[in-house]
Amino acid sequence: MTILVLGAGVIGVSSAWFLRAGGHDVRVLERRDAAALESSFANAGQVSAHLADPWSNPSTLRRLPRWLLRPDAPLVWRPRLSMDQWRWLVLFLRECSLPRYSRNLIHLADFGLYSRETLRALRAETGIRYDFHQGGILLFHTDPAEFERAAAAARRLEAHGLKRRVCDREECASIEPALAHMRERIAGGIYSPYDETGDAHQFAQALAGLGASRGIRFDYGMAVRRLIVENGEVKGAEVEHGDGRKESIRADQTLVCTGPHAARLLASVGLRMDIYPVKGYSVTLPVVDESAALRIGITDAGSKVAFSRLGSRIRATSTAEIGDYDLSIDQRRCKALVEHAQRLFPGAGDPERATFWAGLRPTTPSNLPCIGRTKIPGLLVNVGHGTVGWTQACGSGRAIADIVAKRRPEVEFPFLGVA
Ligand SMILES: Cc1cc2nc3c(=O)[nH]c(=O)nc-3n(C[C@H](O)[C@H](O)[C@H](O)COP(=O)(O)OP(=O)(O)OC[C@H]3O[C@@H](n4cnc5c(N)ncnc54)[C@H](O)[C@@H]3O)c2cc1C
Repeated sequence: MTILVLGAGVIGVSSAWFLRAGGHDVRVLERRDAAALESSFANAGQVSAHLADPWSNPSTLRRLPRWLLRPDAPLVWRPRLSMDQWRWLVLFLRECSLPRYSRNLIHLADFGLYSRETLRALRAETGIRYDFHQGGILLFHTDPAEFERAAAAARRLEAHGLKRRVCDREECASIEPALAHMRERIAGGIYSPYDETGDAHQFAQALAGLGASRGIRFDYGMAVRRLIVENGEVKGAEVEHGDGRKESIRADQTLVCTGPHAARLLASVGLRMDIYPVKGYSVTLPVVDESAALRIGITDAGSKVAFSRLGSRIRATSTAEIGDYDLSIDQRRCKALVEHAQRLFPGAGDPERATFWAGLRPTTPSNLPCIGRTKIPGLLVNVGHGTVGWTQACGSGRAIADIVAKRRPEVEFPFLGVA
C-alpha cells in the first residue's frame, strides 16, 4: 500500500518508521528543510510515562484564579477573537473535573508505558543515539499542602499500576544529589524510576536517516496546501514546492501528522478536531560544572518548570500560553528560566551561552492524542499529542501501523475508528 505521511515531527517520523516496517511504500512530505524543526525541536526531553499528568486537572482549576493575576504564571491565557480558542477553553475546563482527569490520566499512563517500551525495543534494535539517560524523573514540591495532595494521589494511582514513589526530602536529595543544597526547601517528591530523558530532535533526525536507508522517501521543502478528495475519499495531497510549483501527490492512504497545524487541514475537509496550539519556552545551557548539574529528569511542581540533562547540556522548559500560532520568544520568560536553572543547579550551566526557543504543543482539551482512522476513507490521523508527544511518539507510530494493518494495538486506548 502507498502511504503519504504529512509532517516530519517526532510523530510523523515514528509513524513512517513503523508503517515501513509493516511493508508499506511510505513517503513523508515536510515543509521544512529537515525533520523535527518545529514542536519537536527543543522540548523538555522527558519520556514520562508515569508522571504525565494532563494540565486539565482539579489542581489547575484550584490555582487558576491566582494564575490569571500573575504575569509569570505557568498557565497564561491570551484571549483572541477566535471561536476555536474559546471552544477549546470551555472543553479544557470540563476536562478538569476529577472523574475526567482520572480517566485521562490512566489512558495517558497506559499509552505512555506502551510507548516507552516500544522506544526501548527500537533502541535495542537500531542502536539509535539521542543523548538519552535512563535515570527516572523526579517531581519535587516545595509547598507541603500540594505535596500531601500529590502523595495521596500517587498512593491512589498505584492501584491502577502507576508506579510513583513518594519520597521525603532526604530521598529526593539522594536521588538527585544536585538538589541536595536546597533540601530544606523541598517538602517531598514523587519519583518515577523507570522514566527517562532524551533529545527528541536528535531522535527524530536519526530515525529519519535510518528510515531513509530502509526505503522511506522523505521530501523536504514541500508544504501541503490541501488534501485531494474524490468521491468522498482522500486520495493524497496537493503540495507547493519552495519555488512555488504545485504538485498533486496521490496515495492509497494519507496520514496527517502536522502537529499544531492539523486542525486547520482537517477542518478543510469537514473534520473538527479540537487541537489548539499551546505555546511553551525552553532554554538550553551548556554544562560547565559536572558536579553541580542534574543527571535525571526533574520537574519543579510549583512553578511547572521541567528540566532534563541532555548529554553536555541542561534543558529547562516552562509555560503553557493559550494564545495563537505566534512563535515569538518572550525574552523575559526565557531569562527567568535561566535564573530558575541557576537557582536549582548553581554554577552547573553557562548562562552566557544559553539558547532560547519557543514551540507550540498540539493540545487537545484532555491531552489525549487523536490516533486512528477518520470517517473519511483514505484519511488517517496521528495528532494532538500536547505535552507528551515525545513520550508517546513510538507508541503512536506503532499503533497507527497496527491500525492500518487492521490489527488492534496492544494497549487499551480510545483510538479512532477501531472497534
Ligand atoms: C516547551 C515544550 C516542552 C515539551 N516537553 C515535552 C516533554 O518533556 N516530553 C514530551 O513527551 N513532550 C513534550 N512536549 C510536547 C512535544 O514536543 C510535542 O507533543 C511533539 O513534539 C509534537 O510532535 P508532532 O510531530 O505532532 O508535531 P511537530 O513536531 O510540530 O511536527 C509537525 C510537522 O509538520 C510539519 N507541517 C505542518 N504543516 C505542514 C504543511 N502544511 N505541509 C508540510 N508540513 C507541515 C511541520 O513543519 C512539522 O515538522 C513539549 C512541548 C513544548 C512546546
